[in-house]
Amino acid sequence: VGRWAVLEGAVLNLANPHFMKRAIRKRAGKLRSKALESLAKLQGGDLQTVSNRISLEQYCHTLARFEDPTHDSLGQLAQEIAANLMHETANQSDQLEANYVSEPKQREIDCGAGCAWCCHEPLQVSVVDAISVASFLLQDSTHDRSHLESYVNNIDVYQNRRAGLKESFAPCPFLSDDKRCQVYEARPVICRAFHSTDVFTCRTVVEQRAEDRSVPMFTALFGFRGLRLSGTRKALREMGLDDRPVVLATAVKLLMDDFDSVVEQWFRGEPVFDLAAVKD
Ligand code: SF4
Repeated sequence: VGRWAVLEGAVLNLANPHFMKRAIRKRAGKLRSKALESLAKLQGGDLQTVSNRISLEQYCHTLARFEDPTHDSLGQLAQEIAANLMHETANQSDQLEANYVSEPKQREIDCGAGCAWCCHEPLQVSVVDAISVASFLLQDSTHDRSHLESYVNNIDVYQNRRAGLKESFAPCPFLSDDKRCQVYEARPVICRAFHSTDVFTCRTVVEQRAEDRSVPMFTALFGFRGLRLSGTRKALREMGLDDRPVVLATAVKLLMDDFDSVVEQWFRGEPVFDLAAVKD
């Protein structure tokens, strides 16, 4: 109880955008030094150890952002956490990927530019994924939001229920007419991790509106590409933030309507993503 009381107080203090309170920095610093100690003990090249190390490294990266007192606003802090996660996820070496699936095997991956069968489902992602996409779109003053708005209205019928969302095969609102991802640089981690070794199956799933959407892939590689997200999410949870999965489109719309205010409420530990939270 004591720990949470301190934590809640610290999170509330984050509401002041110009003054990163010592309490929150101290909390992040404490968590990070503990994690650094564990990191130093994680020796060895077996897959489990390597995986734990990657996730823990990202946990430390995220906490380090909280410790940095130079942010102009909480919006900037949120953007930095998201940008760092996407950067680190995108820049993991091929060498490292080969630990999970050998390079010759990886050549069996059947995905390519202009193929977007996997972009036909309302994505369930983490808040930090939604922050990445919303920040990217907000930088483009010419972006037309009307498509996102009508998409969100259309999926309202599923009331964010996990099973209901699976019934929609509408293309992602960020997919262009020529089947390119319009938020590619900022796309969610699941889009970076997802792949298929059989595009024919992907196509059949969408064309036949299949109940079972599974496609053949290398699950070890999928898990590897999601390791950094798990580290960031753990850090956010331990800093007292709402980490429920959200419907990407709905969360991005919420953020785009009033980025700074939504992010500030999120940092205060408020359930500001209620409208986007996925329900079982
Ligand atoms: S965000 Fe981009 S990659 Fe992900 S589902 Fe949408 S269009 Fe596809």
